[in-house]
Amino acid sequence: MMNSSTAATRDVVVIGGGVIGLSIAWELARNGVSVRLLEQGLLGQEASWAGAGMLPPGNPRQAKTTEARFRSGSHVLWPEWSEQLRSITGIDNGFHRCGGVEVQPAGSLESLDERIATWRDEGVTVESLTSTELRQRLPALNPEISTGYFLPELGQVRNPRHLKALIQACLSAGVDLRPGSPVIDIVRRGDKVTAVKTLSEEHHASEFIVASGAWSRTLLQRVGCDLVIEPIRGQMVLLNTPKVLFRHVIEVGPRYLVPRPDGRLLIGATEEQAGFEKRTTAAAIAGLIDFGRDLVPALGEAQFERCWAGLRPYAPGGLPRIGRVPGTTNLSLAAGHFRAGLQLSPMTAVLVRQLILGQQENEWSADLAISSAT
Ligand SMILES: Cc1cc2nc3c(=O)[nH]c(=O)nc-3n(C[C@H](O)[C@H](O)[C@H](O)COP(=O)(O)OP(=O)(O)OC[C@H]3O[C@@H](n4cnc5c(N)ncnc54)[C@H](O)[C@@H]3O)c2cc1C
Repeated sequence: MMNSSTAATRDVVVIGGGVIGLSIAWELARNGVSVRLLEQGLLGQEASWAGAGMLPPGNPRQAKTTEARFRSGSHVLWPEWSEQLRSITGIDNGFHRCGGVEVQPAGSLESLDERIATWRDEGVTVESLTSTELRQRLPALNPEISTGYFLPELGQVRNPRHLKALIQACLSAGVDLRPGSPVIDIVRRGDKVTAVKTLSEEHHASEFIVASGAWSRTLLQRVGCDLVIEPIRGQMVLLNTPKVLFRHVIEVGPRYLVPRPDGRLLIGATEEQAGFEKRTTAAAIAGLIDFGRDLVPALGEAQFERCWAGLRPYAPGGLPRIGRVPGTTNLSLAAGHFRAGLQLSPMTAVLVRQLILGQQENEWSADLAISSAT
C-alpha cells in the first residue's frame, strides 16, 4: 500500500522506533490512521531502553510554563495509558507513583529552596521532612543527611516493559513495524515530501514524522533544515539488593537512585558530550557507584548487575521540538526530549495526533514549533 505513490490520505510513515515513535504510531493507529514505522535497528533499544523511567509530577490546573503544561499533561495520561496498554497486551509496564525525595547532601551549599518553591507554585504537592521523617521514609539513607522534601506523586515505569507493551499495542492496532529499516534519504518535490528511502525500498505516504531521537538532525538535513539536536550520553548502573532498602526515588540535582520493587536499583546518570559514542567508562561508573554509596552506605554490599549508556536527544532551549518542519507541508518532527522523553511521551503522541489529524491543538504547543530552521 505505502509502496505505491497513490497512498490513502491518512497514511503516515514514522521514522524511529523509540518511545516517541512507538507512542505516536500507537496513538495514530488507534485513531484510524494507517501507520508504518521504520526503525534502523531493533525496536525500543536506544535511549528509551536506557532511561531510568522516572516520571516527575505535574498539575495541569496550575502549570504556567510550557514545560510544566507539557509535563502535567503527560502526568495525567500515564495511568490511563498504562491501564490501556495492560488491557490490550497483558503487559504490566510497572507504572506506579512511588514518590520521590529530593535531598540535600550534608555539606552541600546548594539550597533546594528555589526548586521546592517552583514545585509549590506549580501546585505540586511537596512535603518538607524533618530529620526523623526523612529516616522513616528512607531508613537506609546516610545519617549525615538531614534535609529532604517528599514529592508523593512522582512516578516510575519499567521502561523496557513499557516499550514491549507499546510494540504489542502497535501490532494489535495494525501498525506495520519495520525494524532493520534505516531511512537513508527523504525525497521531496517542492514543499511536499513524497517518500523516504530505506536501503531497498521507497515508502510513500501522505505524512512523514521524524522521531529519530539523537539521530534526527542528520535526517532533517536531507530536506535542508539544520536544527540542532545533539546526543548527550547518559551512563547508568544497575545494582541488585538482597532486600528492598527503600521505595522512593532519591534525587540530588541531576543524579538519582531509582529503586525497583524487585530489589533492583538504578544509579544514574551522567551527562556527557561524547558524540554518538555509547560505551561506558570506568571513571563515570565508579563515580556513580560512589555517589550511590555516599547516599545509601548499604549499597556497598549490593550486587553489581550491569551498566550501560544511552544517547539523550538534546535540543537547545530545553524543550523538545514538535511540529511541521519549515518549508514542508507534510513532514513533522517530534524529537529533542533530552532527559524527559519517557515522561513526555504520551502527551507528545497526543500533540502529534492533533497536528496530523488537524484537531484543535493546545495553545501552548505553538511554543514547541520549529523556528530555527535555516
Ligand atoms: C541514562 C538515561 C536516563 C534517562 N532517564 C530518563 C527518565 O528517568 N525519565 C525520562 O522521562 N527520560 C529519561 N531519559 C531520556 C529518555 O530516555 C529520552 O528522552 C527518550 O528515550 C527519547 O526517546 P526517542 O524515541 O526520541 O529516542 P530513542 O529511544 O533514541 O529512539 C530513536 C530511534 O530512532 C531510530 N533511528 C535513528 N535514525 C534512524 C533512521 N535514519 N532510520 C530509522 N530509524 C532511525 C534509532 O535507532 C532509535 O531506535 C533518560 C535517558 C538516558 C540515556
